[in-house]
Amino acid sequence: MNIHEHQGKEILRKFGVAVPRGKPVFTVDDAVQVAQELGGPVWVVKAQIHAGGRGKGGGVKVAKSIDQVREYAGQILGMQLKTHQTGPAGQKVRRLLVEEGADIKKELYIGLVVDRGTQRVTVMASSEGGMEIEEVAEKTPELIHKVTVEPTQGLTDAQADHLATSIGIPQTSLAQARTVLQGLYRAFWETDASLAEINPLILTGEGQVIALDAKFNFDSNALFRHPELVEYRDLNEEDPAEVEASKFDLAYISLDGDIGCLVNGAGLAMATMDSIKLFGGEPANFLDVGGGATTEKVTEAFKIMLKNPELKAILVNIFGGIMRCDVIAEGVIAASKAVQLKVPLVVRMKGTNEDLGKKMLAESGLPIISADSMEEAAQKVVAAAK
Ligand code: ADP
Ligand code: MG
Repeated sequence: MNIHEHQGKEILRKFGVAVPRGKPVFTVDDAVQVAQELGGPVWVVKAQIHAGGRGKGGGVKVAKSIDQVREYAGQILGMQLKTHQTGPAGQKVRRLLVEEGADIKKELYIGLVVDRGTQRVTVMASSEGGMEIEEVAEKTPELIHKVTVEPTQGLTDAQADHLATSIGIPQTSLAQARTVLQGLYRAFWETDASLAEINPLILTGEGQVIALDAKFNFDSNALFRHPELVEYRDLNEEDPAEVEASKFDLAYISLDGDIGCLVNGAGLAMATMDSIKLFGGEPANFLDVGGGATTEKVTEAFKIMLKNPELKAILVNIFGGIMRCDVIAEGVIAASKAVQLKVPLVVRMKGTNEDLGKKMLAESGLPIISADSMEEAAQKVVAAAK
């Protein structure tokens, strides 16, 4: 799960990491009021969307007067902000962060991720803040410094000081940098984050170390123990089909292709998408209806897939183990009738109650193309989509 920058900064504050004073707002009038409360002489008006690169896209503006705050807030609120992370359609800006302008002397970078190789949290730091870290990693990898954290010890003083020194933080600011790095590590650890990034972390003219941006990604599997984080969820920033699917406890991910997939089991779903690609097709989604899906769940899954305007064909690929093929057949028939199926539908079923499921589909009168093997099913659906 992703959150907004202003929410990330709230978390950072709780863990003792210095961030500029500021508040989120939803209207131009409130932006002006917050700016007045903060006091001048410089404010920053920042679009809050779940994507980076806002600065380059015109979503971060430095204002030198209250009038400019009003002007920029008016420009940014409601705009369709395009960045390298939003895709070509961009993302609509519904809220802003108005904060005090910082005196930037140097922009630095800090990132934390879970490294699957070492099964540890890796802390990365670079003197090249403010730009895309992927670019730094490609062109000047020697400018990215890393330490691996032992979970029983946390980020040690020595590790924090090593990172801070490596990215050019002067001796007089080391204590502050240590507070920031260790605070960020604790925030990451205690929130079950999978990624945390401060880009830029800045050194001010007075030698202060402040987080000017904040990005967090949380492990969705751990959200059950963080109701305070779930409160931060902003459904406007999520794919509508995925939000709808999550209501029915369906594992659904939207993709760019045109062949819908309804499968039970994540492994079979992955193999199904691979097979479609192998025969020259492109999957429109990943969808695992799970082991114990009911007719209702299958019907909802079907409706969600059919809302996609790009959809040209559907492949239902079911292994009936715990899941019974007749339950799937019932869901497919109910959903096809409810939404007036207009695209070809290929069905492959194996396992429990296979014969009954096939019989139900055959007697339903729906124009279903049946397939026996996975290969045959993939080939048929690719052909049907063309
Ligand atoms: P994004 O990464 O989405 O572009 P940032 O929050 O990193 O957004 O802002 C982009 C740039 O704007 C920063 O690199 C920094 O130079 C400037 N900036 C952001 N917040 C402030 C602030 N409070 N004071 C001064 N400059 C800022
Ligand atoms: Mg940034």
